[in-house]
Amino acid sequence: MSDIREMMKDKKRIVVKIGSSSLQHSETGDLDYTKLDVLVRELCNLRNQGKDVVLVTSGAISVGKKALSFQDAGEDNPIAVKQAYAAVGQARLMMTYQKIFAEYNQVAAQILMTKNTIVDNLNRYNAQNTFAELFKLGVIPVVNENDTVATYEIEIGDNDTLSAIVASLVKADLLILLSDIDGLYTDDPRKNPNASYIDVVNELTDELMEMGKASTGSDSGTGGMNTKLQAAKIAGSMGVDMVIANSRDIKVIHRILAGQKIGTLFTANVNEGFDLPLYVQQMHGH
Ligand code: GLU
Repeated sequence: MSDIREMMKDKKRIVVKIGSSSLQHSETGDLDYTKLDVLVRELCNLRNQGKDVVLVTSGAISVGKKALSFQDAGEDNPIAVKQAYAAVGQARLMMTYQKIFAEYNQVAAQILMTKNTIVDNLNRYNAQNTFAELFKLGVIPVVNENDTVATYEIEIGDNDTLSAIVASLVKADLLILLSDIDGLYTDDPRKNPNASYIDVVNELTDELMEMGKASTGSDSGTGGMNTKLQAAKIAGSMGVDMVIANSRDIKVIHRILAGQKIGTLFTANVNEGFDLPLYVQQMHGH
């Protein structure tokens, strides 16, 4: 088992996903600057080791909502309200990231994606080229769904899935999902005291996938265990290993890459028949 963890040291292209609930103070919903700072510092340090790094970050909607002091922009169109929040919040979120990245002399870029970015061949090709060019330039792409234009019919929906799609698109060798859970358990540890922790998952069995479906997520993010297992399925099929770890201490990023047993590691099982654009096309947002 330790060999698998040792392999983490050789990872060259890493996608890190952080959820809204991990970026905010739970008491107020305001951004946790200490966490953001540690996150950015960790990512910059990976870049300084010559690794390619992508950050997939949520928070557009919740930051926008906060910025507008929860003003209600009209109950009659809840999607438009969220999209308005996202328009305000994405810019604010990015401004905050840019400031911190600049402190570490790192150039960051923003990439906002929709389902169509993957489904449409030309869009996908262009996005891939953009990522490739950014890596060559040593830039860290910061990715979110383009919530201001992605409507119900075309949305990816949650950033667990988005990060797995991005990791597949850029042919990353590792995806780290930072969340409010330690990793995968045999059952919900809050409900079942006998639930045991799983260190490595080599095969995503139907039983595991079913277990994920029964779980629930946190309040501010959109993903529970289900979306995380779906992400593992996408990433694994496309040859990307994935680790789910707790964002309580963001420094786990470098510990995971040092080969420490942290979080649950899902080893990739390449599925040659897996058609990413088709899979994304058939996905249903929520
Ligand atoms: N894209 C959404 C946002 O930035 C979040 C989706 C998610 O939390 O999974 O607000």
